[in-house]
Amino acid sequence: RKSVVRITTGSQALDDLLGGGIETLCITEAFGEFRSGKTQLAHTLCVSTQLPIHMHGGNGKVAYIDTEGTFRPERIVPIAERFGMDANAVLDNIIYARAYTYEHQYNLLLGLAAKMAEEPFRLLIVDSVIALFRVDFSGRGELAERQQKLAQMLSRLTKIAEEFNVAVYITNQVIADPGGGMFITDPKKPAGGHVLAHAATIRLMLRKGKGDQRVCKIFDAPNLPEGEAVFQVTSGGIMD
Ligand code: ADP
Ligand code: MG
Repeated sequence: RKSVVRITTGSQALDDLLGGGIETLCITEAFGEFRSGKTQLAHTLCVSTQLPIHMHGGNGKVAYIDTEGTFRPERIVPIAERFGMDANAVLDNIIYARAYTYEHQYNLLLGLAAKMAEEPFRLLIVDSVIALFRVDFSGRGELAERQQKLAQMLSRLTKIAEEFNVAVYITNQVIADPGGGMFITDPKKPAGGHVLAHAATIRLMLRKGKGDQRVCKIFDAPNLPEGEAVFQVTSGGIMD
């Protein structure tokens, strides 16, 4: 039986909220508005995952599937320096791929699974998990097929998490909630419907606070108390 590894987010407050950090063996989803910090958290995890276990890392490599073209290798440099790591070595241990269609995204996952069987990975990022589905199935009447393909992709992610003891971090977009009604002040909800709600073990809602501050709220997690954490986005990544 594999034992769970918890990987630091770079923020003590956020780690505390998560019971120690992002967990292996399951999917953690972060959703929130544009600029709420989803991708910056991904960049920080790219580095912290490579820290040794006693420094709250995962002592493993990182796979990054980018569907929006927002990965910035130059952002990794100051984050690595902040953790006292060699930036080039850290970059060498991030396997990066840009996906252009949902099918491409799925095929990349198949290829990664083969790689993970050979090398010690501890984190898989898909930023964002849903963007290509929303583009590739944008027509009316395509929702059922989209959800079916999305379920297939998420089931593949769960399998990777469990088979290779990897933390899977996915980002998601928010959509207007048509059922929200006029009396709800923030009628937004995560995209992906029940399929995504079912697949993600830990669902985090991110929002902007004052200045560089961001707020993370537990939206859904079976074993975590409800609560919020405030953190900052800095040049060195996510911090208190
Ligand atoms: P999302 O993926 O949720 O749309 P991001 O993770 O890309 O949002 O967050 C973007 C925000 O991160 C920017 O608004 C900016 O405030 C902050 N940010 C990005 N790079 C830096 C940096 N080098 N130093 C400080 N803040 C940064
Ligand atoms: Mg982003």
